[in-house]
Amino acid sequence: MTRVDQWNEVLSRIHAAEDDGRRAHGSVALVAVSKTFDAEAIRPVIAAGQRVFGENRVQESQGKWPELKAETPGIELHLIGPLQSNKAADAVALFDVIETIDREKIARAVAAEIKRQEKPVRIYVQVNTGLEPQKAGIAPEETAAFVAMCRDALGLSVEGLMCIPPAEENPGPHFALLAKLAAENGVEKLSMGMSGDFETAIAFGATSVRVGSAIFGLRDVAAQPV
Ligand SMILES: *Cc1c(COP(=O)(O)O)cnc(C)c1O
Repeated sequence: MTRVDQWNEVLSRIHAAEDDGRRAHGSVALVAVSKTFDAEAIRPVIAAGQRVFGENRVQESQGKWPELKAETPGIELHLIGPLQSNKAADAVALFDVIETIDREKIARAVAAEIKRQEKPVRIYVQVNTGLEPQKAGIAPEETAAFVAMCRDALGLSVEGLMCIPPAEENPGPHFALLAKLAAENGVEKLSMGMSGDFETAIAFGATSVRVGSAIFGLRDVAAQPV
Protein backbone atom coordinates (compact mmCIF):
# COMPACT_ATOMS: atom_id res chain seq x y z
CA MET A 1 0.00 0.00 0.00
CA THR A 2 1.18 3.53 -0.72
CA ARG A 3 1.14 6.23 1.96
CA VAL A 4 -1.93 7.72 0.30
CA ASP A 5 -3.70 4.33 0.52
CA GLN A 6 -2.74 4.12 4.20
CA TRP A 7 -3.98 7.68 4.77
CA ASN A 8 -7.31 6.78 3.13
CA GLU A 9 -7.60 3.72 5.31
CA VAL A 10 -6.98 5.77 8.48
CA LEU A 11 -9.69 8.23 7.37
CA SER A 12 -12.15 5.35 6.85
CA ARG A 13 -11.35 3.98 10.30
CA ILE A 14 -11.91 7.45 11.82
CA HIS A 15 -15.29 7.67 10.06
CA ALA A 16 -16.26 4.21 11.34
CA ALA A 17 -15.28 5.21 14.90
CA GLU A 18 -17.31 8.43 14.55
CA ASP A 19 -20.30 6.30 13.47
CA ASP A 20 -19.81 3.93 16.42
CA GLY A 21 -19.83 6.90 18.79
CA ARG A 22 -22.83 8.47 17.02
CA ARG A 23 -20.67 11.42 16.19
CA ALA A 24 -20.81 13.45 12.98
CA HIS A 25 -18.25 12.78 10.27
CA GLY A 26 -15.62 15.48 10.59
CA SER A 27 -16.02 15.81 14.35
CA VAL A 28 -12.60 14.17 14.75
CA ALA A 29 -9.65 15.86 13.04
CA LEU A 30 -6.76 13.81 11.75
CA VAL A 31 -3.34 15.22 12.65
CA ALA A 32 -0.96 13.36 10.32
CA VAL A 33 2.31 12.97 12.23
CA SER A 34 5.13 13.35 9.72
CA LYS A 35 8.15 13.48 12.06
CA THR A 36 11.31 11.85 10.63
CA PHE A 37 9.82 11.86 7.11
CA ASP A 38 11.07 14.32 4.52
CA ALA A 39 9.17 16.65 2.20
CA GLU A 40 9.19 14.06 -0.61
CA ALA A 41 7.34 11.58 1.60
CA ILE A 42 4.85 14.19 2.83
CA ARG A 43 3.94 15.81 -0.54
CA PRO A 44 1.72 12.98 -1.86
CA VAL A 45 -0.35 13.06 1.34
CA ILE A 46 -0.81 16.82 0.97
CA ALA A 47 -1.74 16.31 -2.70
CA ALA A 48 -4.36 13.74 -1.63
CA GLY A 49 -6.01 16.41 0.55
CA GLN A 50 -4.52 16.18 4.06
CA ARG A 51 -3.96 19.64 5.55
CA VAL A 52 -3.25 19.12 9.28
CA PHE A 53 0.18 17.78 10.25
CA GLY A 54 2.06 17.15 13.48
CA GLU A 55 5.78 17.35 14.17
CA ASN A 56 7.68 16.84 17.40
CA ARG A 57 10.81 18.93 16.77
CA VAL A 58 11.06 22.62 15.95
CA GLN A 59 14.41 22.38 14.19
CA GLU A 60 13.46 19.39 12.03
CA SER A 61 10.23 21.17 11.06
CA GLN A 62 12.11 24.30 10.00
CA GLY A 63 13.92 22.18 7.43
CA LYS A 64 10.80 21.10 5.54
CA TRP A 65 7.62 22.98 6.48
CA PRO A 66 8.31 26.57 5.33
CA GLU A 67 8.63 25.21 1.78
CA LEU A 68 5.64 22.83 2.07
CA LYS A 69 3.49 25.60 3.55
CA ALA A 70 4.49 27.96 0.75
CA GLU A 71 3.51 25.35 -1.85
CA THR A 72 0.04 24.67 -0.45
CA PRO A 73 -2.13 27.27 1.28
CA GLY A 74 -4.16 26.13 4.26
CA ILE A 75 -1.67 23.79 5.92
CA GLU A 76 -2.14 23.67 9.71
CA LEU A 77 0.98 22.58 11.59
CA HIS A 78 0.84 21.23 15.17
CA LEU A 79 3.82 21.00 17.52
CA ILE A 80 3.35 17.77 19.48
CA GLY A 81 6.81 17.39 21.05
CA PRO A 82 8.43 19.08 24.07
CA LEU A 83 9.30 22.75 23.59
CA GLN A 84 12.29 24.58 25.11
CA SER A 85 11.73 28.24 25.90
CA ASN A 86 14.71 29.30 23.74
CA LYS A 87 12.78 27.83 20.77
CA ALA A 88 9.51 29.61 21.59
CA ALA A 89 10.01 32.35 18.98
CA ASP A 90 10.72 29.83 16.22
CA ALA A 91 7.82 27.61 17.31
CA VAL A 92 5.32 30.48 17.30
CA ALA A 93 6.59 31.62 13.90
CA LEU A 94 6.19 28.21 12.24
CA PHE A 95 3.40 26.35 14.07
CA ASP A 96 -0.34 27.08 14.08
CA VAL A 97 -1.08 24.99 17.17
CA ILE A 98 1.25 24.15 20.09
CA GLU A 99 -0.08 21.10 21.92
CA THR A 100 2.67 20.69 24.52
CA ILE A 101 2.41 23.59 26.95
CA ASP A 102 3.28 22.05 30.33
CA ARG A 103 5.35 24.53 32.38
CA GLU A 104 4.82 28.11 33.44
CA LYS A 105 8.14 29.12 31.89
CA ILE A 106 7.19 27.78 28.46
CA ALA A 107 3.65 29.15 28.71
CA ARG A 108 5.09 32.60 29.46
CA ALA A 109 7.60 32.43 26.61
CA VAL A 110 4.91 31.35 24.12
CA ALA A 111 2.43 33.98 25.34
CA ALA A 112 5.09 36.70 24.93
CA GLU A 113 5.91 35.54 21.39
CA ILE A 114 2.24 35.35 20.39
CA LYS A 115 1.95 38.98 21.43
CA ARG A 116 5.22 40.10 19.85
CA GLN A 117 4.60 38.32 16.52
CA GLU A 118 0.86 39.09 16.58
CA LYS A 119 0.27 35.48 15.55
CA PRO A 120 -2.74 33.84 17.24
CA VAL A 121 -1.20 30.38 17.76
CA ARG A 122 -3.66 27.99 19.41
CA ILE A 123 -2.61 26.33 22.66
CA TYR A 124 -3.15 22.89 24.22
CA VAL A 125 -1.94 21.86 27.68
CA GLN A 126 -0.22 18.48 27.88
CA VAL A 127 -1.25 16.32 30.84
CA ASN A 128 0.92 13.43 32.06
CA THR A 129 -2.05 11.20 32.87
CA GLY A 130 0.19 8.26 33.80
CA LEU A 131 2.50 10.38 36.01
CA GLU A 132 5.46 8.91 34.13
CA PRO A 133 8.71 10.55 35.29
CA GLN A 134 10.30 10.50 31.82
CA LYS A 135 7.24 11.99 30.12
CA ALA A 136 6.32 15.63 29.62
CA GLY A 137 3.06 17.12 30.86
CA ILE A 138 1.58 18.51 34.04
CA ALA A 139 0.17 16.21 36.72
CA PRO A 140 -3.61 15.69 36.42
CA GLU A 141 -4.27 17.38 39.77
CA GLU A 142 -2.40 20.49 38.61
CA THR A 143 -4.62 20.95 35.57
CA ALA A 144 -7.13 23.38 37.06
CA ALA A 145 -4.49 25.72 38.50
CA PHE A 146 -2.29 25.54 35.41
CA VAL A 147 -5.13 26.21 32.96
CA ALA A 148 -6.31 29.11 35.15
CA MET A 149 -2.77 30.56 35.23
CA CYS A 150 -2.50 30.32 31.42
CA ARG A 151 -5.84 32.07 31.00
CA ASP A 152 -5.81 34.66 33.77
CA ALA A 153 -2.14 35.55 34.19
CA LEU A 154 -0.98 35.08 30.59
CA GLY A 155 -4.12 35.75 28.55
CA LEU A 156 -3.78 32.48 26.62
CA SER A 157 -7.01 30.87 25.49
CA VAL A 158 -6.44 27.19 26.20
CA GLU A 159 -8.16 25.41 23.33
CA GLY A 160 -7.49 21.82 24.34
CA LEU A 161 -5.80 19.19 26.47
CA MET A 162 -3.39 16.58 25.11
CA CYS A 163 -2.07 13.30 26.54
CA ILE A 164 0.14 10.35 25.65
CA PRO A 165 -0.88 7.36 27.81
CA PRO A 166 1.82 4.98 29.09
CA ALA A 167 2.79 2.59 26.29
CA GLU A 168 2.07 -0.63 28.19
CA GLU A 169 -1.26 0.32 29.76
CA ASN A 170 -4.85 0.13 28.61
CA PRO A 171 -5.30 3.69 27.29
CA GLY A 172 -9.05 3.94 28.00
CA PRO A 173 -8.78 5.20 31.61
CA HIS A 174 -6.21 7.80 30.53
CA PHE A 175 -8.50 9.09 27.79
CA ALA A 176 -11.42 9.15 30.23
CA LEU A 177 -9.35 11.15 32.73
CA LEU A 178 -8.32 13.69 30.08
CA ALA A 179 -11.97 14.10 29.00
CA LYS A 180 -13.02 14.63 32.62
CA LEU A 181 -10.30 17.26 33.19
CA ALA A 182 -11.33 19.09 30.02
CA ALA A 183 -14.99 19.14 31.06
CA GLU A 184 -14.15 20.34 34.59
CA ASN A 185 -12.04 23.18 33.24
CA GLY A 186 -14.20 24.33 30.35
CA VAL A 187 -11.64 23.21 27.76
CA GLU A 188 -13.20 22.31 24.42
CA LYS A 189 -10.77 20.07 22.53
CA LEU A 190 -9.11 16.74 23.27
CA SER A 191 -5.97 15.63 21.41
CA MET A 192 -5.62 11.94 22.17
CA GLY A 193 -5.06 8.70 20.31
CA MET A 194 -2.20 7.53 18.08
CA SER A 195 -1.82 4.74 15.48
CA GLY A 196 -2.36 1.97 18.03
CA ASP A 197 -5.33 3.38 19.91
CA PHE A 198 -7.10 6.16 18.00
CA GLU A 199 -10.43 4.34 17.76
CA THR A 200 -10.46 3.95 21.55
CA ALA A 201 -9.63 7.65 21.93
CA ILE A 202 -12.54 8.58 19.64
CA ALA A 203 -14.86 6.46 21.78
CA PHE A 204 -13.74 8.56 24.78
CA GLY A 205 -14.36 11.87 23.01
CA ALA A 206 -11.15 12.75 21.13
CA THR A 207 -11.62 15.77 18.85
CA SER A 208 -8.29 15.12 17.17
CA VAL A 209 -6.10 12.05 16.80
CA ARG A 210 -2.35 12.14 16.10
CA VAL A 211 -1.54 9.34 13.67
CA GLY A 212 1.97 8.77 12.32
CA SER A 213 3.13 5.25 11.57
CA ALA A 214 -0.26 3.99 10.31
CA ILE A 215 0.09 6.56 7.50
CA PHE A 216 3.82 7.05 6.91
CA GLY A 217 5.23 3.70 8.05
CA LEU A 218 7.66 2.74 10.79
CA ARG A 219 10.16 5.21 12.25
CA ASP A 220 13.34 5.08 14.24
CA VAL A 221 12.76 4.21 17.91
CA ALA A 222 14.61 7.42 18.78
CA ALA A 223 11.56 9.37 17.59
CA GLN A 224 9.02 7.82 19.93
CA PRO A 225 6.58 10.11 21.78
CA VAL A 226 7.58 11.74 25.06
C1 LIG B 1 5.06 10.28 17.19
C2 LIG B 1 3.90 10.79 17.92
C3 LIG B 1 2.59 10.38 17.57
C4 LIG B 1 2.29 9.39 16.47
O1 LIG B 1 2.60 8.09 16.88
P1 LIG B 1 2.19 6.82 15.97
O2 LIG B 1 2.16 5.72 16.94
O3 LIG B 1 3.25 6.69 14.94
O4 LIG B 1 0.88 7.11 15.36
C5 LIG B 1 1.54 10.91 18.29
N1 LIG B 1 1.74 11.79 19.30
C6 LIG B 1 2.97 12.21 19.65
C7 LIG B 1 3.13 13.18 20.76
C8 LIG B 1 4.09 11.73 18.98
O5 LIG B 1 5.31 12.14 19.35
